Amino acid sequence: MPLLLKNARLFDPSIKLDCPGSIIIEKEIITHVIKKGHDLPDITEYIPSDKQFDLNGAIIAPGFIDMHTHLREPGEEHKETIKTGTHAAVAGGFTSVACMPNTIPVNDCAAVTEYILSKAEKYGFCDVFPIAAITPGLKGKGLTEFGELKEAGAVAFSDDGRPVKNPEMMRRSLEYSKLVDVPIISHCEDIELASNGVMHEGRVSTKLGLGGIPCAAETIMILRDISLARLSGARLHIAHVSNAESVEAIRRAKADGLNVTAETAPHYFTLTHEAVEGYNTNAKMNPPLRTFKDMQSIIEGLSDSTIDAIATDHAPHHADDKQLEFARAANGIIGLETAVSLALKCFHNSDLSLERIVDAMSLKPAKILNLPTCSIKTGLKANLTVIDLESRFIVNPLEFKSKSKNTPFIGMKLKGRPIMTIVKGKPVWIL
Ligand SMILES: [Zn+2]
Repeated sequence: MPLLLKNARLFDPSIKLDCPGSIIIEKEIITHVIKKGHDLPDITEYIPSDKQFDLNGAIIAPGFIDMHTHLREPGEEHKETIKTGTHAAVAGGFTSVACMPNTIPVNDCAAVTEYILSKAEKYGFCDVFPIAAITPGLKGKGLTEFGELKEAGAVAFSDDGRPVKNPEMMRRSLEYSKLVDVPIISHCEDIELASNGVMHEGRVSTKLGLGGIPCAAETIMILRDISLARLSGARLHIAHVSNAESVEAIRRAKADGLNVTAETAPHYFTLTHEAVEGYNTNAKMNPPLRTFKDMQSIIEGLSDSTIDAIATDHAPHHADDKQLEFARAANGIIGLETAVSLALKCFHNSDLSLERIVDAMSLKPAKILNLPTCSIKTGLKANLTVIDLESRFIVNPLEFKSKSKNTPFIGMKLKGRPIMTIVKGKPVWIL
């Protein structure tokens, strides 16, 4: 049965589309894009009223893609599953997620990649694109079978959660990645420099008596990897950029014409290390929350596209892993159900344009991961995110679809949120 979304704002920066209008979807495909002032086609008469949605001016954008999610399955299903994680994704406006390989077992062979894809096919609310490990077991020694993994469905390689410590191994991974035309996603961290720390090294860590992680622990590794990207000519994507110096390093690499892209996560442009005060373990992540100046640099980097993408780094943890003394608590927060609203906070503050937000959450992730671009064009698959810019709400993890509740944004008042998510022509989530 066809689906009519009417009275919307059609918004797709990839084709410079921004106008009032309606769309009709039939069997996964956008069949009509009707700009305001044009008559709805005859087929509209045959669409039943429960398949017609008046969006009251809400935005229809190309489907959002989270290029950095931890779905925890296989192995840690008490934290999240492919089913609950993708449910959280669509509730957060995402039509696709790319999942990191640090599961148990690690996604380092075709069998695990195929397992994830078959589970996603069966239980997933949205498309799932597995990211495979660079090294077997994330142990940093030897490379996984890039060709086989790509064949099985891997869209990128990463040892996320830890760096590839050995520069020779990282060089080889970049060189092999060129042969299969798949990007390497680098978790940039100098383990030794970071080893004494549990939060950003600065005024707050001193006050709280907690070990600090200097910005340099991230930037040193970014500089090394940029240098290896230059040497190999390969595509390097830098995960979860957190500080000013790193943004500057990436800006220079891009100015030099290197094949380097980067992402940040909403917490790095929304929170600072002050969020840790009171030993709040929901503000513990790696890399850690930085200073106000760093936060400003991240926003500038996003605004001028030095940082290409916004990804969630959705990292579900059971309460038992967070209700511990700060130093022992697990790193990471959930992010799928707050990311779009936090990005829109930057829009309402005039820090980021709507074009840039859609670019950073849909178009750029698709490009970096070689995924088919979502676009509001007839004949294309209908993966769409519908956003109400004005809807106000208070963040309440009890309403989340994620199995985990570890978010530092509890109680935050936000304006703007996804109200409908359409995956392959089906409204898989309606607020
Ligand atoms: Zn990471």
